[in-house]
Amino acid sequence: MVVLMSQSESLFERSKRVSPGGVHSPVRAFKGVGGVPRFIRSAKGAELEDVDGRRYVDFCMSWGPLMFGHQDEEIAEAVRASLSRGWSFGAAEPYSLELAEFLTGALPWVQKIRFVNSGTEAVMAALRLARGATGRSKIMKFDGCYHGHVDSMLVRAGSGLAEMASPDSAGVSKAVANETIVVPLNDLAALEKAFELHGKEVAAVIVEPVPANNGLLPHAEGFLARMSEIARKHGALVIFDEVITGFRVAFGGMAERTGLRPDLVTYGKIIGGGFPVGAYGGRSDLMDLVAPSGPVYQAGTLSANPVAMSAGLAMVKKLKRENPYPVLEKRVESLARELEKIAAGREVSVQRFASMFWMVFGKVTTRDGVVRAPEETPGTQKERYAKAFHQLLGQGIYFAPSGFEVSFLSTAHTDAQLARVLDGVKGALGG
Ligand SMILES: *Cc1c(COP(=O)(O)O)cnc(C)c1O
Repeated sequence: MVVLMSQSESLFERSKRVSPGGVHSPVRAFKGVGGVPRFIRSAKGAELEDVDGRRYVDFCMSWGPLMFGHQDEEIAEAVRASLSRGWSFGAAEPYSLELAEFLTGALPWVQKIRFVNSGTEAVMAALRLARGATGRSKIMKFDGCYHGHVDSMLVRAGSGLAEMASPDSAGVSKAVANETIVVPLNDLAALEKAFELHGKEVAAVIVEPVPANNGLLPHAEGFLARMSEIARKHGALVIFDEVITGFRVAFGGMAERTGLRPDLVTYGKIIGGGFPVGAYGGRSDLMDLVAPSGPVYQAGTLSANPVAMSAGLAMVKKLKRENPYPVLEKRVESLARELEKIAAGREVSVQRFASMFWMVFGKVTTRDGVVRAPEETPGTQKERYAKAFHQLLGQGIYFAPSGFEVSFLSTAHTDAQLARVLDGVKGALGG
């Protein structure tokens, strides 16, 4: 008997033999929704094409970096020009300088910046710098905020309020987890209590200024401001992890939208235009503590790779020039409104922030009807999202393969594509 396998199925079988789970980053394996991951062979605009020749409107957008969609011509041109000059020098070069000058000129809270290769690396370096600058060892983070796969951030709340964290991954030592204090999101009383208990040992508090890695969990009004005050009162630095929000919710991310001034900030995703780049920056007195000007060591063989720098520069220049933010935000607002209309009576809501949105499947029981912490997410989320995901996928619509990841709108999405999504959701909800 001949068993017909799709190309994706057959590549996934091969891939599982040579890589853990068949992928190089866990969510790509579709474990959150079940089924076989689609192997994507190319992408253009807002569309993915898989190895079986099926096309999908993409709302994952490489998890956020592609503000102008796939293969934006301006970025492509910058990359081609960069390639023609050679692609790694391991020496000082003018391309990262141009990007650094552009960013420090545009973002007043970034007086100095250092480029690395991923968001994780940026966070890791910023935490080391915070410890080096304060001489303190503990970091405070929020339950439900993701900061990459740095050991000290792969932790969850221990038992009891304001206690030391426990490892949230095998391989993270208890000793490392003990250096992190995990507090619940959106709970200023818990934050104050944690600072009263551990304040003198806390080097920094790190926060996703719009938590967008466990669903989209917007902070209550005023939370970030109060959080920053409390941290500073106790001599701790404030780190905004803007890896997902930077250049996404506004050119200057949440620092710009709130007017708050973090001591240090981390970027990634958009800043590389779709190439592997991360960055950390902030007050120059702090950044000057980084090697070689200071004692906090941090280095990278491929850091500030010239191709990635050129892609990043083309991206941020185009963002600055075109200011796509108000239009993207309006389009997501109306998409969310239409989605909720279609889903009326089925306990589906859409949470959104700027050009990010998240469909919530189930009854939200919070006072204001907004999910602001992981434990407020309806218990039906995983299962109902997975069902809708596969129905949409079958109609050529690719949402993130997990009910706890957000969707991204790019400038490349057309109105016709958004109309297809509405139709798809209508079908998926059986309406
Ligand atoms: C994606 C993300 C990271 C990790 O970045 P990688 O490039 O995946 O290492 C860290 N923090 C936030 C807020 C993110 O969204």
